Amino acid sequence: MLDPPQLGSLIMKKYKKPKVVRRYILEGLSLGDTQRVFTLMIADLIEFAYETGYELTFGDAYRDPRAFGRVGNNKPGVYGRARSTHKRRLAVDFNLFKEGSYLTQSADYLPLGIYWESLGGSWGGRFNDGNHFSIKYKGVR
Ligand SMILES: [Zn+2]
Repeated sequence: MLDPPQLGSLIMKKYKKPKVVRRYILEGLSLGDTQRVFTLMIADLIEFAYETGYELTFGDAYRDPRAFGRVGNNKPGVYGRARSTHKRRLAVDFNLFKEGSYLTQSADYLPLGIYWESLGGSWGGRFNDGNHFSIKYKGVR
């Protein structure tokens, strides 16, 4: 596998559109501040996706404790990890489309994943969960 900087340059060659890369400083923020920065980062990611020919729909974002259990616990029979970033409003799963086709492989999300990482986020494609875009918080991504 190519390392991210090489892949990033391949993306820029393919789309030929210089992009101002923002990088968010996340260290030392409260949970509330991190959640609000995360939301702004997601806006950047969505804009990048549409500028590069993709379309998105939302999958899971916030996982409400009434349905999924509190952070550190899961209700019986529900999916997802007990300490998931979705429970802290720090993750979104997207459904990805290009030219009318629904793309389902983790690798399909690579351009978005590289962009997301350039912002300072954690991309689920690094752990076989390509549609998952999150911020690492208290050791969980
Ligand atoms: Zn997820």
